[in-house]
Formats: sequence, structure tokens, C-alpha cells
Amino acid sequence: MEGGDGARSGAVTGRWAFVRTPRACRAWVSAAFLCALVLPLLLVDRGQGHTAKDATVTGLVLIALSVLNVEIGRLLEGGISQSQRPHKGLSAWAFASALLLPTWWLLPVVVVTYGHAWWRGLRAPPWKWIGSAAYVVVAALSAAVVAHAVIGNHHDLMHGTGLVGLIGVVAAAATFLAVETVLFHGSAYLNVPEDEVWLRQTLRSPSFYLTEAGVLLVGGLSAAIWTGGGWFIVLLAPVYVLTQRAALHEPLRERAEHDEKTGTLRFESWRRLAMAGADRCHRREQPWCVLFADLDHFKTFNDLWGHLVGDDALAAVAAAIRAELRNDDVLGRFGGEEFCVLLPDVAIEDATGIAERIRAGVAAIDVPGGGPITISIGLGAVTPEDGQIDFVSALTAADRALFLAKHEGRNRTHLVLVDA
Ligand code: GH3
Ligand code: MG
Ligand code: MG
Repeated sequence: MEGGDGARSGAVTGRWAFVRTPRACRAWVSAAFLCALVLPLLLVDRGQGHTAKDATVTGLVLIALSVLNVEIGRLLEGGISQSQRPHKGLSAWAFASALLLPTWWLLPVVVVTYGHAWWRGLRAPPWKWIGSAAYVVVAALSAAVVAHAVIGNHHDLMHGTGLVGLIGVVAAAATFLAVETVLFHGSAYLNVPEDEVWLRQTLRSPSFYLTEAGVLLVGGLSAAIWTGGGWFIVLLAPVYVLTQRAALHEPLRERAEHDEKTGTLRFESWRRLAMAGADRCHRREQPWCVLFADLDHFKTFNDLWGHLVGDDALAAVAAAIRAELRNDDVLGRFGGEEFCVLLPDVAIEDATGIAERIRAGVAAIDVPGGGPITISIGLGAVTPEDGQIDFVSALTAADRALFLAKHEGRNRTHLVLVDA
């Protein structure tokens, strides 16, 4: 699921990118790579390895399915390749292999799956792609060990009521997901943040785990049908198409909701989430604030340093704002050089403190190739005593507060209480 963040400023790019990543990150990826290379050969017996079907036929079927799946994806997309696309659809085959075959089969299955997807345009920096494949092998190995412990050497995962097979497949899928989550978090947080913006964002999104779990269960279902009903697996073709659709849809949804320049929510998505957050505060009788921020004399900044440096400044400002926010705060780009934030469950004094820290954080930004930059901030604050406040009134109050901050000379924060 690694994607290429390489083009972002500050990211580690180029041919020897891996050598220049932090040492801990290199150690993490190399260790996973070694494990992926050696353990499948040592743990051979842990894989089922005793399915009634011939292992070679099973392995070739899995490889064919993986190739077919990527091709279906290309057809759905009209052949356009896209870098930052997750591997989601790819883990199904490693998982099925873990359930059906001796573990050494993971090597050809994953190598062909990843190699073919790469050839067909699913691109990430090579070290990330190889690391990603290694994580999938290690996750699949862990799944094989768990499946073996639960199912033993049953030929047919659907034997009897299929209960043991079912428990084994679900436990193995949960193990796969848990192990790969840990491994990908290692990459995301041991590497420099600028190089892993996309991965960090993906790992924070609950829908990633849902889609990934769906993909793994499709792999599990394929494996079970293969042992129980053989070529009935063909009937799963429409499911593969739908799964591939879901995997393709996910990054599109992400892109529709997020502004590419700053990684913040687009206004409409922000408004939806912020309104829901404000509603929650009202029900719990908590105070909340809306924060509006506008860069000072940004037109002049662009005129002086150029619009490209202006874009870097916008991204740096979004990062500076984010650095002061908690998990539940909702950050969006209102438009142009304006940002908006919902601060749920925050008292007025705390909100002014947060706004002041954001202002100071932005003033401290050093944009390469640019000059100093400042921001004016308006806060619209709601207290529980106000009762149900119309969200638009809070936005209007924040807007009014921002106007006053500008009027008073910029590079400052201003607060307006919302009238019930
Ligand atoms: P004030 O302090 O009153 O807010 O002055 P200002 O110059 O920031 O305000 P104004 O509304 O006159 O100009 C906003 C500028 O923001 C103009 C526009 O070029 C710039 N801007 C808006 N969106 C972007 C963007 O995506 N990238 C860059 N580089 N500039 C942008
Ligand atoms: Mg403006
Ligand atoms: Mg401005």
C-alpha cells in the first residue's frame, strides 16, 4: 500500500533515496525484508501444504487471479496508472496462499503479484514497493502460523459445518491485518514525516482497515471455495470486480475530500464534519469554537517570492496549524489562503491559547526561498449556556472576529462570543 510521496518538498527522493532515510527506518525495512526472504523457507510446514489439490496448480491459480485482478483494475480505470494507490487488492493472494500452500509459495506469489502490478503502473519508490511486498509476506506468514494452529492439516476448509475453517480463516485474517498494520506504522513513523504524508494519512483512516479486511476475507473465501468446491471459485469473479472497485474508490474519495496542496479537508467536507462535531458538543453540553485564519498580505508574498513558493508556504502553514491541534479538532481549507478549524469541547481561555500558539507557530515558519509570513485569526466561541447555536452563527462570529483581527493590524487573534 505504499504510495509515492516523493514529489513533495522535503521528501527523500532520487535513486539512492533509501540510503538517505533515517537509520531506524532502514533497519526496520531491512529486517522485514530479511524475514520475508528467509522465514517462508524455514517455516514451510506451518503452511497448510496438504490441500487435496496439487500445490502447483493451486499456486498457479492464485498467481493467475492476482494478475487478472490488476488487469480488471486497469480496465475499470481506463488504463490510467496512478502513483499513490494502495496495494489493497494485492494482499488477498498472499493471504490465500498462506491458507492453502506451504509457506515458501509466498515468495513466488508475492513477487509475481507485486512485479506485475509494478509493470502495469502501480508505482511507488522502489524501496517502498519492495518493503511493502516484504511486509505482506511477513503478515501472510503470521497468518499461516495462526491458520495452521486452528485448522491443522484439514484438506477442506469447508469441511462439515465449516466452523473450524471459518474460525481459522477469520483468526488468520485478523492476524494478517494486525501484523501488516504494525509493519506499515513502522515505515510511516520511522521515516521522515514529509516522505510519509500519504501513508500516515491512510493509516489514520478507518476506511482503510475496512477495505483491507474486506480484501483479505475475499482471499479467505477464495481459498475456502478452492478447497471445498474447486472451480466454483470462478463464481467469485464479480466479487473480485467489486472488491477492486472498492479499492480503487478509496483513494478517489480521499482526494475528493482533501485539498491536495495542504492535505486539509475541502470546505464542504469540513463543514459536514464540523457541524457533526458541534452537534455532539451541544448534546454533551460542552463548549466549542470555530477558528477562521487568513494569511496576512499573502498577495504581496506571492508577488515577491512567486506563487510556487506561495504554495509551499500554504502547505507549511497547514502543517503549523495541525501541529497545535488535537485528534478531534477538524481542520479545513476555506479557500485561497484561508483555513477553518472546529475546536470541540474547548473552553474560551483554552481556545485563545490554541489560536495564539498557531499564530506564533506560523510566524516562526521559514519557507525556503520565501520571506516571513504571518496570520490573523478569528475565534467564534460557544458556551453550553447558549443552548443550541446555529452553526452558521458560529461561522459568522469567527468571520467577524477575523475581520477585527485584520482591522487591528493583523498578526493577531481576536475572539467574538456567539449570541444565542
Ligand atoms: P490580507 O492581509 O488582507 O488578507 O491580504 P491578502 O493579500 O492576504 O488578501 P487578498 O485576499 O488580497 O489576497 C489573497 C491572496 O492569496 C491572493 C492569491 O494570489 C493568494 N492565493 C489564494 N490561493 C492561493 C494558492 O492556492 N496558492 C498561492 N500561491 N496563492 C494563493
Ligand atoms: Mg483571504
Ligand atoms: Mg489574506
